[in-house]
Amino acid sequence: MTESSATRPSTRARPSADRPPLLEVKGLSVRFRMPGGRHIAAVSDAGFTLEAGQCLALVGESGCGKSVLASALLGLLPANAQTAGTARTAGTELLTADEAVLARTVRGRLVGLVPQSPAAHLTPVRTVGAQLAETARALTGLRGEAAVRHAAGAAERAAFPAGHLDRYPHELSGGLAQRAATALALVGDAPLLLADEPTTGLDRDLVEHTADELRRQVDRGRGLLLITHDLAAAQRTADRVAVMYAGRIVEIAEADRFFGEPGPRHPYARGLLNALPERAFTPIPGLPPELGDLPAGCAFAPRCPRSDGRCASQRPAFAAGTACHHPEEADRD
Ligand code: SF4
Repeated sequence: MTESSATRPSTRARPSADRPPLLEVKGLSVRFRMPGGRHIAAVSDAGFTLEAGQCLALVGESGCGKSVLASALLGLLPANAQTAGTARTAGTELLTADEAVLARTVRGRLVGLVPQSPAAHLTPVRTVGAQLAETARALTGLRGEAAVRHAAGAAERAAFPAGHLDRYPHELSGGLAQRAATALALVGDAPLLLADEPTTGLDRDLVEHTADELRRQVDRGRGLLLITHDLAAAQRTADRVAVMYAGRIVEIAEADRFFGEPGPRHPYARGLLNALPERAFTPIPGLPPELGDLPAGCAFAPRCPRSDGRCASQRPAFAAGTACHHPEEADRD
């Protein structure tokens, strides 16, 4: 890793025994029913918690299920999806809430979405200020000047310059478009932000800029679930890292221990880091399995240097931060 992307000094919020986590996900599974009676196991038995003032980065290769998990939290799955498990925030069960509850109380109010493509998220024919004010009216019920002031406050919290509120999206740089999209996510004062691949397609400077913008929101007390395949962005932003492979979370670790010493415990997570150009630049051999045809044992077994007969036949349970029969030994002090 470059020095500029080194893991931040930890400022993570400590969980409180007195209050529930900001987001608590338990046993979350998503299956897609396909023609011919086939099923795709996109997410299997995922579980994690997220506290206010903390960022959890959910990382893994494209197609591993992390964006499906995000869609499940926002009630945005297609009609052929079946979910199981629980996902609670602020007393609301997200997986079973009906569309009216999701639209009225969840999206934008409890959970703010920072989108993958800010330019596509912004309406091209309206100024940023007009879009923020409209969102403020919809989410807060404020009217007139009060809505405009509220919108300006969200822009300020996202570091979007007040002098640019009368600009159209095509008049913004990539960085300012990202700030405008972040401002939209902040208008409803949602305590939980969900950022789905917010750095995809950005150059490195803009990746770092976006990661720092998101981190600023965390440091102001919001919880952030950062869904990304960009490990440098995760390292720059996160307090904890959850690694997904073939629809399952295979490791959850403190970011400083994950990216530094002792490093990941799960062989796939280790492989992800070793594939980075600034590390060993050694790709993981082979390909992930089809989510519609998962093996009985560990899904990573065909690609894993530590695999044995037990791995091929017996799926490892998640325990002590990882789902592996033979994790890398770590200094557990
Ligand atoms: S369970 Fe076995 S195959 Fe799977 S990651 Fe661990 S060592 Fe490798």
